[in-house]
Amino acid sequence: MKRKKTTHIVIHTAAWPGDPDIEDIRRVHVDENGWSAVGYHYLIRKDGSIEKGRPEGNVGAHCRNGGMNRKAIGICCSGHGDITAFTVQQVETLCSLVNVLRRRNSIDIAHVIGHREAGAAKTCPGTKVDMDELRIDIDEQNILGISRAELKDFNTIEEQIAFVEQKIT
Ligand SMILES: [Zn+2]
Repeated sequence: MKRKKTTHIVIHTAAWPGDPDIEDIRRVHVDENGWSAVGYHYLIRKDGSIEKGRPEGNVGAHCRNGGMNRKAIGICCSGHGDITAFTVQQVETLCSLVNVLRRRNSIDIAHVIGHREAGAAKTCPGTKVDMDELRIDIDEQNILGISRAELKDFNTIEEQIAFVEQKIT
């Protein structure tokens, strides 16, 4: 089912130790939960590569709170956010992917939220993930507090889109 509007982006953790791929998550969501498809639109692996989940324009199955499934793109980072923070590579890719999606849909940084911020009784995207810091990183296309030396700069929107596309496996 197509989503009628896209006003938010919701960030998740796979809450799964190690580095599950989209197939691992699909097995849980489809084979165990009986959903029609994997609930997220994108998964970012620990090396920063991006795997596609359900089509980006479809209603998601990742955050029931606040009606987010009907108005948000859901991005999951592999690993377990209660155990370890996202990797530098994940943050770098996440910043770029979120910014490309924000531009495409005119989404304000305040509407980029963690699952728990939608009112879910969960820690997702994890107690090790500071959403305020992450929003600053995204807004500044920066990796504050992790490694400024690895900061990825873009001169143009096209460069950033190309970076994201090259990360999609
Ligand atoms: Zn979540």
